[in-house]
Amino acid sequence: MNVFGYAAQSATDPLVPFVFERREPRPDDVVIDILYCGVCHTDLHLARNHRGFTSYPIVPGHEIIGRVSSVGPSVTRFKPGDHVGVGCMVDSCRRCMACGSGYEQHCAQAPTFTYGSIDRHDGTRTFGGYSERIVVSDRFVLSVPPGLDLAGAAPLLCAGITSWSPLQRWNIGPGSQVAVVGLGGLGHMALKLAKALGAEVTLFTRSAGKEEDARALGADHVVVSTDATQMAARAGRFDLILDTVPYVHQIGPYLSTLNFDGALVLVGYMGPLDASFDTAPLVYGRRAVAGSFIGGIEETQQMLDFCAQHGITSDIELISIQQVDAAYDRMLKSDVKYRFVIDMASLRA
Ligand code: NAP
Ligand code: ZN
Ligand code: ZN
Repeated sequence: MNVFGYAAQSATDPLVPFVFERREPRPDDVVIDILYCGVCHTDLHLARNHRGFTSYPIVPGHEIIGRVSSVGPSVTRFKPGDHVGVGCMVDSCRRCMACGSGYEQHCAQAPTFTYGSIDRHDGTRTFGGYSERIVVSDRFVLSVPPGLDLAGAAPLLCAGITSWSPLQRWNIGPGSQVAVVGLGGLGHMALKLAKALGAEVTLFTRSAGKEEDARALGADHVVVSTDATQMAARAGRFDLILDTVPYVHQIGPYLSTLNFDGALVLVGYMGPLDASFDTAPLVYGRRAVAGSFIGGIEETQQMLDFCAQHGITSDIELISIQQVDAAYDRMLKSDVKYRFVIDMASLRA
């Protein structure tokens, strides 16, 4: 089927209208009319080839909320009219130990990503949510619980699950001390989710002007990370630090703010950190530096259900598809409040 969307054709040009081919539905496929799509910093990294492996054209978008328009004959969990979500993955091998344990994101043969991947069955390229329609195997489609605002729910499919998964992995709950580094899309979801899980929550930010917003989003404390006195006052405090910063930065100053057995979990930057750090706080405090990558499908559904129970959605700025390059430029200036979401009705404007 022919589908209309917006694509990046190079690392330097703005996104442009683009018509492309999606596969005809297979028996287990769900065909989804896209209503909203969040704008993740990863879209910007890949559209502008920050990681060096983008193959153009690329249609970004992996925070997708839509309405089912049709289902294949073997689909039982969804029917036309249902509100559904699609996140960063649309398939995996389904046989390896990771897939069998609900960690499709760590599939031994690599998951098929929502855009910029090669479909493992027919060899075609995947295209993402900045488009009118998507075709996804039912196993990778999420139910959107009733009551969630649809536009505000879109960012849960990446920013939400990427924050949620480490909070679960490190058993965050009442009595936990959690810090979040960077107040953007991931950071604001991390504040909301950690708070709703019962933790005491601190934001580390470079932007002193974000303090009031951070408190409204759930932060009990705000620390300006460039202020050495404020940093020193937090020594030995945190069980978990979620570091969402997208670019090279120093992690050393955060390590001494971890409690004994605490972990600094990197979810933002992927690549070599050029600044070395002192291992003494790790060794003496049995502290860890770790990473975390999105989350599995079952875990994503649990996060959506938790958000519905607690009335949690993303704080969004709704934009048209024509504004997406301006949104990228604002993200580069850390000027996002706190996720851009594209209203896909604008595709036809
Ligand atoms: P975002 O909305 O642009 O927010 C990033 C925040 O980090 C900014 O608002 C800013 O907060 C801080 N920041 C930005 N540049 C910085 C710098 N040079 N040094 C220090 N702090 C800086 O981005 P996002 O969508 O949340 O994504 C964050 C990162 O996570 C991206 O790299 C993205 O690719 C990655 N990501 C990873 C996963 C995963 O599975 N691990 C999933 C989704 C996204 P302050 O103004 O408060 O300092
Ligand atoms: Zn993302
Ligand atoms: Zn697998």
